Amino acid sequence: MAMSARAREAKAAVDVVTAFFGRIQAIADDPDALDFTFGNPHEMALPGLPAALRAHAEPQSVDWFAYKTSERGAQEVVAAGLVPELGLTFEPEDIAMTQGAFGAMSLALALLADAGDEVVIPVPGWFCYEPMLVAANLVPVRAPLDATTFDLDVDAIARAITPRTRVVIVNSPANPTGRVYPKAAWDELADVLERASNEHGRRIWLLSDEPYRRIRFDGVEFASPAASYPWTVIDYSYGKVLLAPGQRLGYLALSPLIPAAERDELREALMPLGLAIGWGFPDAVMQYSVPALETLSIDLAELTRKRDRLYGALTDAGLEVTRPEGTFYLWGRAPGGDAVAFCDALAARGVYLMPGTLFDRPEHFRISLTATMEMIDRALPHLLDVSAQLDRAA
Ligand code: PLP
Repeated sequence: MAMSARAREAKAAVDVVTAFFGRIQAIADDPDALDFTFGNPHEMALPGLPAALRAHAEPQSVDWFAYKTSERGAQEVVAAGLVPELGLTFEPEDIAMTQGAFGAMSLALALLADAGDEVVIPVPGWFCYEPMLVAANLVPVRAPLDATTFDLDVDAIARAITPRTRVVIVNSPANPTGRVYPKAAWDELADVLERASNEHGRRIWLLSDEPYRRIRFDGVEFASPAASYPWTVIDYSYGKVLLAPGQRLGYLALSPLIPAAERDELREALMPLGLAIGWGFPDAVMQYSVPALETLSIDLAELTRKRDRLYGALTDAGLEVTRPEGTFYLWGRAPGGDAVAFCDALAARGVYLMPGTLFDRPEHFRISLTATMEMIDRALPHLLDVSAQLDRAA
């Protein structure tokens, strides 16, 4: 067999996603398909993005396209932005520029975890945690969120922790539920992690996956767990707020509250480990563009209107839908409780949603609000009609 055991296991962990790609192949051949599956753009990019790339595409020195680690200018802008945003005293040395949140998470895991270590992940949660962990020789351990509210369930995390636990991953605003967790939840989690670290004689690290941090509705406040638990590292991506996930850019930020000796050790390791994981630094042009990109965002007012339109129509029709506080996803329970049947019936009408099977929650579905309002208006009659049919059949 050509493949390593961990490659086989990682591939198997992506099977549910690969199979879904197979089921939605029809989208590519149908110009009228209403695609609400992945968080991809359905309109032309924010003009500021190509403008920033154009402005930095022309070399201004001989080393313009030389090997780049984390560019100092990018680190400075990120750290300066994080200070008011999270209320913590980040410095440029705490920041490693990466290829999106994916790259930042890989770097964090390489920095903190040894082969065979356990990493606690939320369920329902992003479907790439598990394959990434397996490919890094780590052991995913699932901790369910509250089954109805999808609140952080700190007791469930406590139960998932063992002497082998090295990292707990949390995600707020959360994919796929759109929930944003309050500081009180992080304080409670911090107590659990502190106690468990002491009990097992081994520090448990928190990896706060925050790519949707700036995508929130109704002025909902954001609290980072970094303010509650010192041993926290944060991963971020510009792919969501710019809705341009194909242009890879993000960072890993070390919490300034990490005790000085450990913070220094990690700071010094950011560059060598970025190299060791396969030159995980973003392309030069993306790094030069950070000051411009920091100021850009998708239209949150329009995103709010799309959320309100879909959430309002679906709840009026009697569907159980979690009101998104952040992210660009809407999470609901399929009428009849079989999300694959719901999604298949809609796909037959050219409307494509993501079934909760990708999140280990087969009764639920996810709708991406990155679709346009026009797409939402065209899809809604089908959503309501299929829901009513399945309700009658149930
Ligand atoms: N974390 C979560 C929760 C996500 O939903 C995603 C992307 O969908 C990522 C991390 C990775 O983001 P990026 O592709 O921008 O690196």
